[in-house]
Amino acid sequence: MKTSAKVVVIGGGVVGCSVLYHLTKAGWTDVMLIERAELTAGSTWHAAGGFHTLNGDPNVAKLQQYTVELYKEIEEKSGVACGLHLTGGVMLAGTEDRMDWLKMAHAKGRYLGMHTEIISAEEAKKRMPLIDEKHFVGAMYDPLEGHLDPYGTTHAYAKSAKINGAEIVVRNRVLELNQREDGTWDVVTEQGTVHAEHVVNAGGLWAREVGRMVGLELPILAMEHMYLLTEDIPEVAEANKATGKEVITALDFEGEIYTRQERGGMLMGTYEKAAKPWSEQETPWDFGQNLLEPDLDRIAPELEVGFEHFPSYGNTGIKKIINGPFTFAPDGNPLVGPIRGLKNFWVACGVMAGFSQGGGVGLALSNWIVKGDPGFDVWGMDVARYGDYATLAYTNAKVRENYSRRFRIRFPNEELPAGRPFRTTPIYDRLLADGAVMGESYGLEYPLWFAPKGMDAKEVFSFRRSTDFSHVGNEVARVRTSVGVMETSGYAKYRITGEGAEAWLSYMLANKIPATGRMVLTPMLNDNGKLIGDFTLAKLGAEEFLIIGSGPAEQYHMRWFEAHLPKSGVHIEALGLNMVGLSIAGPNSRALLAKLTSKDVSSSAFPFMAIRKMDLGPIPAIVGRVTFTGDLGYEIWVKPEYQRALLNLVLQHGEDLGIGHFGLRALNSMRLEKNFGTWAREYRPIYGALEGGLGRFVDLKKNDFIGRTKAAEEKENGGALRLITFKVDATDADCMGDEPIWHDGKVVGWITSGGYGHWVKASIAMGYVPKELADKTDGFEIEVIGERRKAHPIREALFDPKGEKMRG
Ligand SMILES: Cc1cc2nc3c(=O)[nH]c(=O)nc-3n(C[C@H](O)[C@H](O)[C@H](O)COP(=O)(O)OP(=O)(O)OC[C@H]3O[C@@H](n4cnc5c(N)ncnc54)[C@H](O)[C@@H]3O)c2cc1C
Repeated sequence: MKTSAKVVVIGGGVVGCSVLYHLTKAGWTDVMLIERAELTAGSTWHAAGGFHTLNGDPNVAKLQQYTVELYKEIEEKSGVACGLHLTGGVMLAGTEDRMDWLKMAHAKGRYLGMHTEIISAEEAKKRMPLIDEKHFVGAMYDPLEGHLDPYGTTHAYAKSAKINGAEIVVRNRVLELNQREDGTWDVVTEQGTVHAEHVVNAGGLWAREVGRMVGLELPILAMEHMYLLTEDIPEVAEANKATGKEVITALDFEGEIYTRQERGGMLMGTYEKAAKPWSEQETPWDFGQNLLEPDLDRIAPELEVGFEHFPSYGNTGIKKIINGPFTFAPDGNPLVGPIRGLKNFWVACGVMAGFSQGGGVGLALSNWIVKGDPGFDVWGMDVARYGDYATLAYTNAKVRENYSRRFRIRFPNEELPAGRPFRTTPIYDRLLADGAVMGESYGLEYPLWFAPKGMDAKEVFSFRRSTDFSHVGNEVARVRTSVGVMETSGYAKYRITGEGAEAWLSYMLANKIPATGRMVLTPMLNDNGKLIGDFTLAKLGAEEFLIIGSGPAEQYHMRWFEAHLPKSGVHIEALGLNMVGLSIAGPNSRALLAKLTSKDVSSSAFPFMAIRKMDLGPIPAIVGRVTFTGDLGYEIWVKPEYQRALLNLVLQHGEDLGIGHFGLRALNSMRLEKNFGTWAREYRPIYGALEGGLGRFVDLKKNDFIGRTKAAEEKENGGALRLITFKVDATDADCMGDEPIWHDGKVVGWITSGGYGHWVKASIAMGYVPKELADKTDGFEIEVIGERRKAHPIREALFDPKGEKMRG
């Protein structure tokens, strides 16, 4: 075994081997993989080997597509067979809602270059003869589905990596990880110590334990998972004979079952509702290539449905039942990337579908290590999407929920209940008492909308406009005509201080630094000139700044900020819930503010984008004149102990001005009326500032800043895409995001977000199209739940296009 390497990958499952291969493919050959037992000795060896491209996040779906297409390459390179059976597969819908969901998945697939088809139940029966079609209303066919040999595939990755120069050491457990002063690592193993520049945790079932070696508690939990193999089934032989092919794979959403041919019989697996975690606290090191005790009773309800939907399965014997554990993150997507504050430590774990996702995870992580950027939009699997709140117990609740809902629909207006309420602000109970219907983001409860007194604050989940529609409309009307108040604590807030703060911020952010007492909107760019942040930056004093940004990106942004912090002179702190807020917005908001303070808040004394420290009644606050509603409005920031008193004060003094609560849904409606984009929707690391309509907030004339060169290039060549807003001829359903945009009969782009503009009475959507089409005025359509709707580009905001209300 060599004693030094540029990268040590811990774990020889399918994920570790893929990372190793991709590192060598990127040209880093001084790399090694260390495996505790034999390759595949974690979850990998007993996997059912199924693969598919479907994923709720289109960016993850794209990486799944890459994974499936990679198998030929590693087979050819290594000479090791992956045992690939690219059969194609059907996803079967038993309800109209599910069919709508499939139509939307199919529509998303269009702009990802996928070749799925929507087919009838009868057609599905022709392609998958073992179903009883009367249980289904239709299906989606995907040619990129099938199954493979997990052992062969892992070895194909490993051998390909070895051919490229990597070393693989088996039967050698990593015992300790010790970081040196310079950020490199001593990887202490049973066979000695390896000095590595970078370490990758691909420990699969033991990823938590490997994380603990460096003081990390990763939000991962293993779940027991069962599939069974039947005896030979005559109908399978008949189908093989009739078609000359293997029976294709099938996914039955109502039965929560996946199935495929295995020799002369079938394999059938399920994600049961009675989900059972395995080794909740720690994974024993002596767990080897073991299986767990099967428990047919636990999966009996799903099997019963399965035997009805696939009648021939019920007439045959069960040959074998496999029960094995594999790991999940709370949302079921992988955890990939660098860890905040831990130099040169990377994770590639929580990969629940190693044979659909392993290739994409390996590619993204190796890009990140070698080039400093994953090269794709990996937000959906970035480990930084979780913060400290994702403790073991929180993870346990969410993983169980996610596992048991694996094949269920999540409606766009559906909030999942497990592990809630968890993080709350001081006004949580008050908001509930006032009728708030809560959502959750980053573990934090926040109001979505408010049910009027006497009405049950429940909503009907739907892809279409739902029970909240008129209430959200009333909240919008209140803000547009008088004044509304909203909880804003969910934003991330960063306090930056120190003698070097201004110069550092000017290097980190693309816009100029505002004068003291002023704010600017500023994008943050990466070295490629792509958007990695969209902030409000306030200068509170010569050496004191405040940044307000997206709440769920707090860890993501802190990782970036801290990695670029100078040794001294600048201090940055994520304030979390140590600073909480309320926003007041609407034409009466100034009159309300004036009642709370003795300071002059007239437009000339307190103009748009000004920020001041001021007492509101007895409460010390920071007040900024800015609002995402696009109206006149203010954001008020206070310490948590004052938030309750502040809300009382605002409601009391706002009564005669017509005040009422508004929630996030109303805010979304109002920001769409103003063409305001938002982080993780319109602004993501695959778009440039110019493309995203933020070009005016990039100051190329100031000092050098990260991404400047590329931003200048983008300005010169115009980039490739343009964000535009559409008015959509929708009837009862609005865009939600990820719908394809058509132009002259071709898919040309995708929607990033949409909804109903209640004040302007229009269905609105924002999305990206090639810049050559950005000036076209007609020919656009957007596919909303499988139906193409005419869409009209809007050049000016539908509400207050000149910004007179906001600035007045
Ligand atoms: C019953 C079942 C059916 C499944 N079916 C499918 C399917 O059809 N399709 C699909 O895509 N996925 C399926 N999966 C999931 C799939 O198995 C996982 O996604 C995949 O195996 C994860 O791979 P991994 O490399 O992350 O983890 P693992 O396979 O667990 O690999 C981690 C490796 O790290 C090693 N290791 C850990 N700690 C150390 C250490 N300290 N030192 C050295 N080595 C260490 C372990 O020995 C292990 O070999 C199934 C899983 C189960 C249990």
